[in-house]
Amino acid sequence: MNALPARDLAGFDVERVRADFPALSRLVHGKPLVYFDNANTAQRPRAVIDAVVEYYTEHNANVSRAVHTLGAEATALYEGARDRLARWINAGSRDEVVFTSGTTMATNLVAYAWAMPRLREGDAIVVTTMEHHANIVPWQLACERSGAKLKVWPITPEGELVEDALDRLLTPEVKLLALTHVSNALGTVNPVARIAAQARARGIPVLVDGSQALPHLAVDVQALGVDFYCFTGHKMFGPTGTGALWARREILESMPPFLGGGEMIRTVRFEGSTWADPPHRFEAGTPNIAGFIGLAAAVDYLAGLGIERIAARERDLLAHATARFLEVPGLRILGTAPGKAPVISFLVGGVHAHDLATLIDAEGIAVRSGHHCAHPLMQHYGVAATARASLAFYNTHAEIDRCAEALERARRMLA
Ligand code: PMP
Repeated sequence: MNALPARDLAGFDVERVRADFPALSRLVHGKPLVYFDNANTAQRPRAVIDAVVEYYTEHNANVSRAVHTLGAEATALYEGARDRLARWINAGSRDEVVFTSGTTMATNLVAYAWAMPRLREGDAIVVTTMEHHANIVPWQLACERSGAKLKVWPITPEGELVEDALDRLLTPEVKLLALTHVSNALGTVNPVARIAAQARARGIPVLVDGSQALPHLAVDVQALGVDFYCFTGHKMFGPTGTGALWARREILESMPPFLGGGEMIRTVRFEGSTWADPPHRFEAGTPNIAGFIGLAAAVDYLAGLGIERIAARERDLLAHATARFLEVPGLRILGTAPGKAPVISFLVGGVHAHDLATLIDAEGIAVRSGHHCAHPLMQHYGVAATARASLAFYNTHAEIDRCAEALERARRMLA
């Protein structure tokens, strides 16, 4: 039912776009794959795969070391990727973009090199109930070492931050507010600019986990008014093992190194060493050169489609999926914030999420089941796990219908 015409909203040619993603045309258990695990990791377009292959085929060399031609080519491509990413998030300068292996590495970098040297006994860090473990555990480690404490910003039953709780939470001992831009488990899009303005008025720095925002929204780190913005490349159609920490230049300049080794130094003597300027101060060792070249290709791909058109298409997909899933008797959606990203966490009656996911996998449909690296959020809702369908612009109404029908069959089998 309701299959979209090939050319739908704003001239979005779905079939052409799908043809750019080789994995989307494979069969799983003899059925065409329906890939609804995009919040876990997205599929890569051919342009990203080609950029990686081309680097290894034509330009393979280490960066920032060799004067030979391949070394210069590799360095130009790698540093070009930094320029590309800096423009994409509207960083004030390319030097504000530190390449990391992903969000996890970025939050840990801030925890070790920024928070740990500053935190004192009695200080506090505020996180929210809906955080991924990558935006909780590094702060716990920093708190353990310093005697600081975590404070938790609660959420409503719909999965939105309780806005009037913030005033009460932002007390003078708070040294950092760390929150997600978009929840991976609920899809909630937090009003980061408004929140950051409130924190800034009290002189409290704000770190944002943008892992789930960049695949869906236009992100302008300067307009958001935050201090740190962390993200991961593989959720925005780039290679795994890529991501970045963006922070304002003066903050990065104030931070000591996190990891020591090659590339991050200015001089090394046995008596003591001096450090390179940011961003290289935080990029010790040989980086994932091919990965970042691929990530730049992913950014170009997204720019080619247009992030506003992507968002419009995903709003349409989310509305259709929500309506179709709710037709399954006993299906309950966790996270119903207005304007949310295309993520649907759900449970069907008393059926375990893993059983649901396993049964529909047999029909070629990939959804994630589990705690989504958000134990505290699961505890908040009193559930051990949910099933989660997370959509991307290349998904279709027909795929959503197949999934809803498979869920209904699974429910009847398991109930
Ligand atoms: N934060 C959020 C909201 C995420 O969804 C994820 C990935 N599931 C991460 C952080 C961690 O990203 P990575 O594993 O790529 O470091």
